[in-house]
Amino acid sequence: MDVAKLQSALEGMGEKPYRLTQAKDAVFRQLVSHWNEATALPPALREKLNATIPISEFEVVRESESERGDTCKAALKLTDGNLIETVLMRHSNGRNTVCVSSQAGCPMACTFCATGTMGLKRNLTTSEIVAQVLHFSRQLAAKGERVTNMVMMGMGEPMHNYDNVMAAIRILNDQKGLALGARHMSISTCGIVAGIHRMADEPLQVNLAVSLHAPNDELRTRLMPVNRAYPLAKLMPAIDAYIAKTGRKVMFEYLLIDGLNDTPAVITELAVLLKKPLYHLNLIKYHTTGAFVSTGRDRRTEILDYMKKAFVSVTHRITFGEDIDAACGQLANKHSKTEVV
Ligand code: SAH
Repeated sequence: MDVAKLQSALEGMGEKPYRLTQAKDAVFRQLVSHWNEATALPPALREKLNATIPISEFEVVRESESERGDTCKAALKLTDGNLIETVLMRHSNGRNTVCVSSQAGCPMACTFCATGTMGLKRNLTTSEIVAQVLHFSRQLAAKGERVTNMVMMGMGEPMHNYDNVMAAIRILNDQKGLALGARHMSISTCGIVAGIHRMADEPLQVNLAVSLHAPNDELRTRLMPVNRAYPLAKLMPAIDAYIAKTGRKVMFEYLLIDGLNDTPAVITELAVLLKKPLYHLNLIKYHTTGAFVSTGRDRRTEILDYMKKAFVSVTHRITFGEDIDAACGQLANKHSKTEVV
C-alpha cells in the first residue's frame, strides 16, 4: 500500500482526512487483505477503494517452508504477470526478518548470483515493496507475532530503484503503520556510489550493507561487473563519506568461494582493507548456483578466526532456507523442493 496514493485517492473521492487514518489503521494495524474487511469504513467507500486502490497487488503462487521450519519463501505474481520472491526468516531470538525484493529480476549480473541471470524485468512500485512485508505481517499476526526487521536483500538492486525503496521504508517506519524501527531496516547494494551518497543524506537511520566479495579490483570485476563503473577507489571513499556524515556502522557482505576469494593472500588483503572503525565484515556461505564451489566449513571458521585476530569486526551470517532456494543469491523463481501451498 502506497500511503501517498491512498491519500490522494481518498481526497479525490471527497473524503474527510479521518478516513485516511481509518484506512491506514485497517491496512497496517488490522492487516486486512481486502477493503471489504475494513469494517470501520462505509460499504460504499470500501467498494470504491477496491476499484481504485486494491490492497492485494499480487497472487501468492507458491509458498515453501524450509525443513527447519524457520524460513518461508513466497513466490508472488504481480498484476502484470512478473514474478518476485520474498523470504521470511524466523530467528531463534524472536526476531522475524523479511527479505524484500526491490526489482523483478536484476540488471547487475553478478556472476555468483542466481537472480543476476534473469536480467531486469522492472522496478517494483512503492506499494509492491510494502506489500511483501504486509504479506508476512498477516501470517505472523495469526500466530501473535510481528515482523521486527526488514532487509532489502531480495531480488534486485535497491539503489537503482531508490525513490520507491525509500518511500516504502518511510511507510514501513511510520508510527501509525507497521512502526518498523529505521535501525531494524537495512539496504544492501552491490556498490552504487551515487546511491550511497544519497543515503548519507537521509534523515532516517536505515542501515547500509555493501556487497564487497573481493578486496581488489581485478577479482571484484571478475565477480561483479558493477566494479567497472564503481571500482574500489570510488566505492571505499563513498562509504567513508557515508560513515563520516552519519556516524553509522557499514556492513560488508563477503561470500566465500573456494580457491578464488578465500585464499590466504586475498584474505590478508581483505583484513587490511576492512580494519577500520565502523566497518563490519559479514562472512557469507556461498550458496551454490552452479558457477563456483563453496568454501568448506573448516576454512570458513579459519577465516573468521583470522579476521578476529587481525582486529576486524566480523561475524558469520547464519544461512536460512538453503534447502528451498531461499538463501542469499538463490532467488530466481525456480520451483523448490518442499512446497506447502
Ligand atoms: N543487489 C543488492 C541486493 C541483493 S542482496 C546487493 O548486491 O547487495 C543479496 C546478497 O546476497 C548480496 O550480498 C549478494 O551479493 C549475496 N549473494 C548473491 N549470490 C549469492 C550466493 N550464491 N550465495 C551467497 N550470497 C549471495
